[in-house]
Amino acid sequence: MSASLFRPIATTLIRSVFLWATLCALAIGSIQAAYSYIHVQDRFELAVREIGQTNVPLLSVSIWDIEPEAIRRQLEVIAARPEIGYVSLTVTTGQTFSAGDKGLTNDRPRHFDIPPPGRPVGVIGNLEIFENPAAFYRELIYTLGVASLGYGVLTLLICTLIAYLLKRDLERPLRRVAQFASELTPNRLTIPLELARSPGHGRDEIDLVVEGFSVLQSGINSHIANLDEQVAQRTAELESALAAIHRLSTIDPLTGCFNRRLFNERIQEELDRAIRYQRALAVIFCDIDHFKRINDTCGHLLGDQVLQEAAECFRRELRGHIDWVARYGGEEFVIVLPETSLPAAIATAERLRLALTESMATLLPGLTVTASFGVTQHVPGETVQELLQRADNLLYAAKAAGRNQTLPRL
Ligand code: GH3
Ligand code: MG
Ligand code: MG
Repeated sequence: MSASLFRPIATTLIRSVFLWATLCALAIGSIQAAYSYIHVQDRFELAVREIGQTNVPLLSVSIWDIEPEAIRRQLEVIAARPEIGYVSLTVTTGQTFSAGDKGLTNDRPRHFDIPPPGRPVGVIGNLEIFENPAAFYRELIYTLGVASLGYGVLTLLICTLIAYLLKRDLERPLRRVAQFASELTPNRLTIPLELARSPGHGRDEIDLVVEGFSVLQSGINSHIANLDEQVAQRTAELESALAAIHRLSTIDPLTGCFNRRLFNERIQEELDRAIRYQRALAVIFCDIDHFKRINDTCGHLLGDQVLQEAAECFRRELRGHIDWVARYGGEEFVIVLPETSLPAAIATAERLRLALTESMATLLPGLTVTASFGVTQHVPGETVQELLQRADNLLYAAKAAGRNQTLPRL
């Protein structure tokens, strides 16, 4: 943005108009001055002609009759004409007469040879007529004065009117447009630009600006709406990506159970809740017996299916939104039973053990898949590690006791 001084557009335009009007007035004044000069010259020529026709014959008579007084009167009559500044007469006898003010005159006189009365030949005197420059200046000043006053008043009136119209029809609407543009924030995009313009002005460039703003506002509005839509779409995509990431980071991809990472977080929350509400909390550790053999004899793919089926079986047998299963290690699962005391947990483990073997019989006909279970209940004051350690110990005790069993027993 330019740092130069702010000058209203009406002022700038009016200055230009005034300057040009003054220049035009001066040019016209100069033409009129030239015309005045020619006019004064014409009048002088006319006066000289008239003097030649009227005064020269009278002077001729006065000189011939030797009447100095009459000669002087004639010269004063001539000098009294506004176009004549000075007149001088030299008679052939040597006498000279003059009238008027020599100081006013210029140096280019008109000469008249005065003939004797009634005879066209011969010279009895010489008359010199000097122009009166004051007449020219008077004429000039009068013409210029009238012209200056007329053009000045006209220029002033026109400039005042133009200034008023410029302010009303250009400056005010433009200022309003500038204010509107500076206040145009995203939450004002629906407010239209309104200009209080004088009625009957028709449609002009300012209306084009108003229409341009309207197009701009609706363009920005639809752009914002489009952006909102895009943001909503991107947010949905991000949310689903986040959900996918969350799934990947918390769910075991093979079995669909929670993974060890999530188990570590959630078991602490589960224990905190049980302590807070003084509710029972039981944990079952489950390990498939001789799983290595299954892998070795039937292949890893089938081993994977066994793990999937085990997880599916547990989910089927457990309470939907209360109990939960995590894959603790390779073929080892941990089952968390909130609001469950030890006897109920042992019963659940036994149910799982039988259901697992049964469901595996359908998957692997002719092959008996069993699992061992260690069950325990949280004891007040005990940490998560202590609770899990006891469950693990019980699981290995079950293994040691011959597998395919739950410890402790009911
Ligand atoms: P035990 O009765 O004492 O538990 O014997 P086990 O053979 O079940 O236990 P061991 O720890 O000796 O072997 C576990 C095997 O489980 C070894 C490993 O290759 C296999 N395993 C671990 N994770 C996976 C898996 O994701 N898929 C398959 N197919 N096998 C797995
Ligand atoms: Mg095992
Ligand atoms: Mg194991």
